[in-house]
Amino acid sequence: MSELQAQLDKRRTFAIISHPDAGKTTLTEKLLLFGGAIQLAGTVKGRKAARHATSDWMELEKQRGISVTSSVMQFPYGEATVNLLDTPGHEDFSEDTYRTLTAVDSALMVIDVAKGVEDRTIKLMDVCRLRDTPILTFVNKLDREGRDAIEVLDEIEEVLKIQCAPVTWPIGMGKRFRGVYDLRDGRTHLFSAQHGGRIVEGEVIEGLDNPRMDEVLGDQAEELREELELVQGASHPLDLEAYRAGRQTPVFFGSAINNFGVRELLDAFVQYAPPPRPRNTLQRPVEPAEEGFTGFVFKIQANMDPAHRDRVAFMRVCSGCYRKGMKMRHVRIGRTIQIANAITFQADERRHVEEAWPGDIIGLHNHGTIQIGDTFTEGEELKYEGVPYFAPELFRRVVLKDPLRMKALQKGVVQLAEEGATQVFRPLKNNDMILGAVGVLQFDVAAYRLKDEYGVDAIVEPVSVQTARWVSCDDAKLFERFKDKNHEYLALDGDDQLVYLAPTRVNLSLAEERWPEVRFSATREL
Ligand code: GDP
Repeated sequence: MSELQAQLDKRRTFAIISHPDAGKTTLTEKLLLFGGAIQLAGTVKGRKAARHATSDWMELEKQRGISVTSSVMQFPYGEATVNLLDTPGHEDFSEDTYRTLTAVDSALMVIDVAKGVEDRTIKLMDVCRLRDTPILTFVNKLDREGRDAIEVLDEIEEVLKIQCAPVTWPIGMGKRFRGVYDLRDGRTHLFSAQHGGRIVEGEVIEGLDNPRMDEVLGDQAEELREELELVQGASHPLDLEAYRAGRQTPVFFGSAINNFGVRELLDAFVQYAPPPRPRNTLQRPVEPAEEGFTGFVFKIQANMDPAHRDRVAFMRVCSGCYRKGMKMRHVRIGRTIQIANAITFQADERRHVEEAWPGDIIGLHNHGTIQIGDTFTEGEELKYEGVPYFAPELFRRVVLKDPLRMKALQKGVVQLAEEGATQVFRPLKNNDMILGAVGVLQFDVAAYRLKDEYGVDAIVEPVSVQTARWVSCDDAKLFERFKDKNHEYLALDGDDQLVYLAPTRVNLSLAEERWPEVRFSATREL
């Protein structure tokens, strides 16, 4: 087997999806702990704290008490090399999360046993479904009182429209939580609360009918046997093909904070989750085992290192191998560049990468030429599909306090737009600059960063735009007429694409009715 094939077979690239507070950060930490990437749990939060100390940008996070940036962590587990792509939990940054989900091969869904399926989980599942992303489920916080496990599975099936296959089953919950039973091998793993960084293997009992079960669990042993009969009759058996096709989710129970259920989850994850899969470009599908290097950019992040004020483009390697110093073609701008200093992300620290394989994420230093969605190859003209822009739902006009800073402002907003932090629109009818975002917090971030990074004192004020649609039409003549008649509503986005800025929803529906040949799209695929 070639090295390329061997390396890509080992890769597991995934993200965790959940509603805020379900335990994503805790589970991330515990996965790193079990993966041996960190010594003591607490490092994920500690890392956030360390960043706060050195960066003004993080100061904003701290003031808001939320995490607005996301990162990538790579760690080995057994034979596998795991890439975990973190996604910001706050709702205002969901666009970033959606794009990150285009760069993974599978996802892990965390559900709070007391809360069941929540809003954000539903939205994130919708995004996963666009690409039939395989999903493992971890039902968390069994050490607390929660809902009946069967009820939670029913809800997942009903609301998220995906089959559930329980892999482990909880024995009691809250004060009566005694452990989990593994339906695959009939072993019971007993629970003992263990906070922090200690990994203690608790007692394992072989077989459901083992008298040790009754000895240790008392009445709960018989309850478990009865419940399992019910569960096995009513639920779907584990079917890896259905999982990989995104139709079934294997379900695990545990308590992340107690390091419990995490080992089983991680073992199953590296065993079941798919390695990098073929991906579509506009031209043809690309197999990960192709020798030619290809990759695409799904995220741009500023100020990871405040000392350098750098902006890093996150690229997912899709095929071939990246080697330090190699030449890559930046397809959109038609230029070949030599990449000597890409960075990789190993748990906590960043360091220069010598090579990277399909499924890996590398960071390229970006001086303003790289945009979200850009494809890089070793020469072939390819364009990866599927990195979406979403029509913003909120709009603000940027007003300069000092008109002489216009140039700096323009540079600032264009760069923010390239990162996907906000979108910028320039109306055809005047010189306004309008920012669009999916969450209101993004405007605060934009104003803060314009001042902090570009020295531009600007305020953002309300503007009468309610929604935006990218417009296009196959009939050029008709489109000219449309543009003529709707001049006052039209604007160009950061990429000079034509956008209809509707003052009201009613205005938009009227325009859509009046111009049936014109396409009004709420997303723009890059
Ligand atoms: P995130 O918002 O999804 O990243 O959630 P966090 O990981 O920050 O967890 C939210 C809260 O739930 C925190 O107070 C955690 O300590 C707590 N938590 C996480 N896992 C567990 C668990 O297994 N049991 C209990 N009782 N609390 C947990």
